[in-house]
Amino acid sequence: MRVNANSRTCAVSSLCVYRAPSVFSQDEDGHVVVLDHSPGEDVQDEVRRAARGCPTRSIEVVESDATGS
Ligand code: SF4
Repeated sequence: MRVNANSRTCAVSSLCVYRAPSVFSQDEDGHVVVLDHSPGEDVQDEVRRAARGCPTRSIEVVESDATGS
């Protein structure tokens, strides 16, 4: 799994940070920052929920079977 986020469209809702604090954080303006672009399996479900729940669709999740991650 690869995770990216678009801080320009982020609405500073903090939802993703609550869902997966090891993967998402916020900069000084509150915009999303990705801490871990290749999160482990233990948090991948939460990352998918965060992406689905983002009100501005600012989180991109690319599933990758090739790497197994
Ligand atoms: S859930 Fe979306 S809008 Fe909210 S902080 Fe995360 S990336 Fe930004």
